[in-house]
Amino acid sequence: SRSAPYIGRFAPSPTGPLHLGSLVAAMASYLDARAHHGTWLVRVEDLDRDRNVAGVDQHILASLQRCGMLWDGDVTWQTRRTHLYEAALEQLLANGAAYPCSCSRKEIADSQLRLGQSGAGLVYPGTCRAGLAPGKTARAMRLRVPDAPDDVYCFDDRWVGVNCQHLAADVGDFVIRRADGFWAYQLAVVVDDAQQGITDVVRGADLLDSTPRQLFLQDVLGLPHPEYLHVPVVANPDGEKLSKQTGAQAFDTGGDAEALVASALIPAARFLGLDVRAGSIEGFWQAAIPAWAALLNP
Ligand code: GLU
Repeated sequence: SRSAPYIGRFAPSPTGPLHLGSLVAAMASYLDARAHHGTWLVRVEDLDRDRNVAGVDQHILASLQRCGMLWDGDVTWQTRRTHLYEAALEQLLANGAAYPCSCSRKEIADSQLRLGQSGAGLVYPGTCRAGLAPGKTARAMRLRVPDAPDDVYCFDDRWVGVNCQHLAADVGDFVIRRADGFWAYQLAVVVDDAQQGITDVVRGADLLDSTPRQLFLQDVLGLPHPEYLHVPVVANPDGEKLSKQTGAQAFDTGGDAEALVASALIPAARFLGLDVRAGSIEGFWQAAIPAWAALLNP
């Protein structure tokens, strides 16, 4: 019942080599694209130059190839696409959807204290909505979010079901270009997903609460909404998401293919709820693709 041919993507940040957690996200998006006889793109999300590690992009691509996850078309790098984000920002500033903000993190945190809000993230109080105060200079660019009580952004995630957020209460006017001049993930991901014709976003559940912001940005920019599927995130024994920061080990892609299947592909598949038995890379995918299709459409 899909109107458009399936186009999916894996969008790694080149901050560290693939580990079990990022392999699970890559595998889920690859399996979903192949199960739909679709296209699978790889986009390197390298906008945060402070967090990029030189050479890691090529390391990730080589790991994907070693695992038999072969992408379609050319790999894209976000740092080569900044003209697209610039154009989107201009559109948002021109129609008043976005505005410059002079506030520092400290000023936002202080006003949140005054408002008696503490807890999860910083909710931007809208200080610069009506314009910069005299003598203040613009730092970040922010997007104005709707604040009527019934302005709730909901989507029906293909894995977790219906998910909703009230943007004004939960995040506030959010950053689309950072104070350090870097393009914000939220803007870039929305512009790229639309420009690349992505129909299905499959990624880790750590990004579940970014999705309402992305849906809203799509509306403001007049872009279509893709389908979303957020797979569970692999945690370490302390319950933290596996990441380079929490000490995740890159898996060894140097050994033989059989060892790679046993030590990386099968554990990642098992984490996704797929019982796959295989000795070779080819055999693994031959079993895993129908298993994924059966899991999602039992
Ligand atoms: N680059 C993001 C990350 O590595 C993923 C973005 C996405 O899939 O939307 O966490």
